[in-house]
Amino acid sequence: MIEAPRHIIDVEQLREPELQAHLLERAAEFQAMAPADYPKPLQHRQVATLFYEPSTRTRLSFDTAAKRLGAGVPSTENAGEFSSAAKGETIEDTIMTIQGYVDAIVLRHKDDDSSERAAAVAGVPIINAGSGKAEHPTQALLDLFTIKQEMGQVEGLKIGMAGDLAHGRTVHSLVKLLRDFDGVQIIGVAPDCLAMPEEYRQPEDVYVDRLDEVIGEVDVLYMTRTQLERIDDEAVVAEFSKQADNFKLTNRRANRMKPTARILHPLPRVGEITKKVDKNPRARYFQQAHNGLFVRMALLEWVLEDAA
Ligand code: ASP
Repeated sequence: MIEAPRHIIDVEQLREPELQAHLLERAAEFQAMAPADYPKPLQHRQVATLFYEPSTRTRLSFDTAAKRLGAGVPSTENAGEFSSAAKGETIEDTIMTIQGYVDAIVLRHKDDDSSERAAAVAGVPIINAGSGKAEHPTQALLDLFTIKQEMGQVEGLKIGMAGDLAHGRTVHSLVKLLRDFDGVQIIGVAPDCLAMPEEYRQPEDVYVDRLDEVIGEVDVLYMTRTQLERIDDEAVVAEFSKQADNFKLTNRRANRMKPTARILHPLPRVGEITKKVDKNPRARYFQQAHNGLFVRMALLEWVLEDAA
């Protein structure tokens, strides 16, 4: 019997307890291994990275993860500009073509439904590496991995999320994953013009419009940048800029956090965390980015496990 490809379209799939536990354990195993000891389960496999939006960490960590597991990685630089999308080709046609060359496709695209559309026509797994403002499931898994590792457990944590909660796909995916842990409270920090959409909220959440109100309370502070490329209303940008200082993490503010608290950011940062915070013992955003490699190794291994 031919099994359906193991797509990773949204974070819902990663909420399945057995799969989630397997991926997190496997990521920890990869983290503990010396690179020379990595197994090569993807030898003779090809993993395409097809990115229509800019990326540093997601792209390079997927490339490296695939190569470390033995795969080849054909990719196109800036697919929006240099692939046939520039000539007007649809995502569906591009996917139907590339699937004939490779065993899995890692896709980033500005449309919220891009991964669903790709998966609907793909005979090989589609891995969503960021779709519009809707989803970034592999980032959410690496965020969860980092929170577990740094805090020991997720249950009962107060998780602050600050910045552009309206358009940030990383917070939208992460919030869904965190709901599965008892006693987690989300504390959103955003101006009204960039507030968390209703669909992601729960009654136990708290929403405020300045970091100072909650800085001493949170166990994890997940900072985000303003997603300027997804905002076409200049009034929103102007309003946020006026209030930006309320959401900026300076070292002075960071020092008012609990000593055990941790600061995360999916990166890139563009001013919302000052450079001085990097040396603060609570800062973990570069470690978080490094964890992405191990989590993506675990994901690729699982996605291609039974592929013929
Ligand atoms: N790198 C993350 C993303 O692709 C966060 C960001 O760009 O702000 O969504």
